[in-house]
Amino acid sequence: MENKMNRKISLASRPAGVPTLDNFEIADAEMPQPQAGEILIRTLYLSVDPYMRGRMNDRKSYIPPFALNEVITGGVVGEVVESRADAFQPGDIVTGQLGWQLYSVAQAAAIRKVDPALAPVTTALGVLGMPGLTAYFGLLDIGQPVAGETVVVSGAAGAVGTLVCQIARIKGCRVVAIAGSDEKNRYLTNELGVDAVVNYKTSTDLNAALREACPGGVDVYFDNVGGDISDGVTVLIRHGARIVICGQISLYNLEEQDVGLRVQPYLLVNSALMRGFIVTDYAARSAEGIGQLGQWLAEGRVKYAENIVEGFENTPQAFLGLFSGENLGKQLVKVAD
Ligand code: NDP
Repeated sequence: MENKMNRKISLASRPAGVPTLDNFEIADAEMPQPQAGEILIRTLYLSVDPYMRGRMNDRKSYIPPFALNEVITGGVVGEVVESRADAFQPGDIVTGQLGWQLYSVAQAAAIRKVDPALAPVTTALGVLGMPGLTAYFGLLDIGQPVAGETVVVSGAAGAVGTLVCQIARIKGCRVVAIAGSDEKNRYLTNELGVDAVVNYKTSTDLNAALREACPGGVDVYFDNVGGDISDGVTVLIRHGARIVICGQISLYNLEEQDVGLRVQPYLLVNSALMRGFIVTDYAARSAEGIGQLGQWLAEGRVKYAENIVEGFENTPQAFLGLFSGENLGKQLVKVAD
């Protein structure tokens, strides 16, 4: 291993507004050496996720900001190349919160094995990983969909959204999907079986398009995006509706605070619930979520889509693509075979 070099991507500056490639630096780094109880992992796939944008601000949140000039951490699937922990052997495929780098060292307790015989290893970063759990617990625990109800999903063609749509269909709901391209909406309709779609980018009157897609009102709104789209859905809620605040991607790059609809009157007169959550709230139940998602996947009741960019150096570009809607399904970067 001694003659190998590591490479890492760090945050060179904090983005103002929409991030640019200049905010990132790609540089050679020292090869990390595992100590007792640690494992050296070669990155195969990296995950780029919208929540990382929040960590690029120097602001208090549920997770600390990324430090400048330090490797950006995120979900990785990799191969063990050297192990100084009994539970792992070279060749094992593992996943964990590692980093945008070619090689990482991790404590054995911080990573888990991925069984390549069960599903393609990339699913550990998607349907059988963080996005899958987000969709599963957000929709079922907070949204509590009941057969026959109307479930609206924004950001519907992304990693989380595609799964929320399908779980809502499994529960017997009428699903209305909102996404930013006709190609995505065709996929949602033809492959995932949603009942109605709205293209928020091409609708000349978004509120009217939402009203038309939800003639009976909205029972569950799974909100991945916030902003005007969510204002348009909120005014359509029915009595007893549940609004699940999963993400607010339309706001992540704003420099000024955005003020939209005042939602309280709509919650009040409809005895409705609005609740945010972070997937780690459900950490103690992750085996339940992965188990159910794995079963649906094996039964063919859930499908997943991936958008895979090739090459470590293209990681920042893949991340930026999340904000322009480049991805259908989970956005990943393939780093090595
Ligand atoms: P996605 O795979 O959905 O990728 C992001 C998508 O968001 C893009 O493809 C784009 O699709 C859409 N988008 C980007 N900008 C805007 C905008 N201004 N308005 C509307 N849509 C936009 O990401 P994930 O599935 O990983 O995450 C979805 C949401 O869930 C994010 O907000 C994320 O932060 C949140 N999240 C929350 C978690 C939690 O614990 N609460 C955990 C994981 C994710 P389009 O073409 O449709 O515009």
